[in-house]
Amino acid sequence: MAFSSEAYVAKEPGGPITLETIQYDGVGKNELVVETVAFSMCASDLKAAQGVFHLKPPIILGHESAGIVRQAGSAVSHLRPGDQIVLSYSHCRKCRYCLQGEAPYCENITALNFSGRRSDGSVAAHDALGRPMNHSFFGQSSMGRVALVHESCAHKVECTLEELKKFAALGCGIQTGLGAILNVCKPPPLSSIAIFGAGTVGIAAALAARLTFPSRVVVIDTASNKLSMIPEGVATSTLSSAGLQEGEIADKLKAMTEGRGFDYVVDCVGLAQLVNAGHQALAPRGMVVTIGGPPETASISLAAQLLGGRTYRGSHQGDSVPSTSIPMMIDLWRKGHFPFDKLLSFYRFNELEKAILDLKAGKIFKPVFVINDN
Ligand SMILES: [Zn+2]
Ligand SMILES: [Zn+2]
Repeated sequence: MAFSSEAYVAKEPGGPITLETIQYDGVGKNELVVETVAFSMCASDLKAAQGVFHLKPPIILGHESAGIVRQAGSAVSHLRPGDQIVLSYSHCRKCRYCLQGEAPYCENITALNFSGRRSDGSVAAHDALGRPMNHSFFGQSSMGRVALVHESCAHKVECTLEELKKFAALGCGIQTGLGAILNVCKPPPLSSIAIFGAGTVGIAAALAARLTFPSRVVVIDTASNKLSMIPEGVATSTLSSAGLQEGEIADKLKAMTEGRGFDYVVDCVGLAQLVNAGHQALAPRGMVVTIGGPPETASISLAAQLLGGRTYRGSHQGDSVPSTSIPMMIDLWRKGHFPFDKLLSFYRFNELEKAILDLKAGKIFKPVFVINDN
């Protein structure tokens, strides 16, 4: 049955993000209608609105959300109306990568997350004037009161409604930061870890790094106000890279390790200059991992790779498989080991503009928008 929802959309690249009424044509056999409890915003939403992401305007935004299943398609077997769920990216669950626990590298990731259509190519959403909208962003386009979601996005959670509002933020940036450390770097105790970028992803990585008994966790950013907002006890030290060239960043990082270099560098920014600096600052057998930002071309030393046994690799979603990473993050949070909620700032549904201003002013890490919280 067709339904409508008020949702945040970007109509044209670089234009404003506005609340619009969206008409959905009904629930497909592998889809869910989800009543949103809360959603958060990730850097990729803003990039998509600007027209610099895989999926472009006109687009219904949103890919970090939690809510309650209101309707399930005929082929959905693992969820029922009334279930509380946290949403993450979509994956096919059938390809080689999905079957071997590597869902971030699903062969159908583009069709399911960035085609703007259902996976069969059909259009599910139109604006009030009947124009087709790009939807199914990360399988969900969930910045609205109600969302049409691919079932593979949805992960059932047992929790209170207040907890669910926090868990809404777990589906992308936070699991990416955590996964970069726990799934990709897998640092042994007493490792030295440097993290470029003091946004949500970087601080989530730093929080996860603290779980591995590191010798040091250094967070680097050009914005000193962001560095000063890092919750206490997360980084052992910080470095402002404002005005520094890549060689200078590398020298300062090496000096922090008495010249030995870092065992792991996590690049949450995606700038070639930082990949180069991080690679130059690596200890032998060290690894640089890129988990964020636009694709650039870095130039790393092959001799340093070969003679030092160093590694550079990228990681989508920190190699996180949401069906295991979401319950793990919740469990760690409940036990007091992963206080990701320190990164959240709560807003009302209609306060997007205010939140974007706060984000751009460097006042907050991650805005979470709560529906029906007046
Ligand atoms: Zn797959
Ligand atoms: Zn994201």
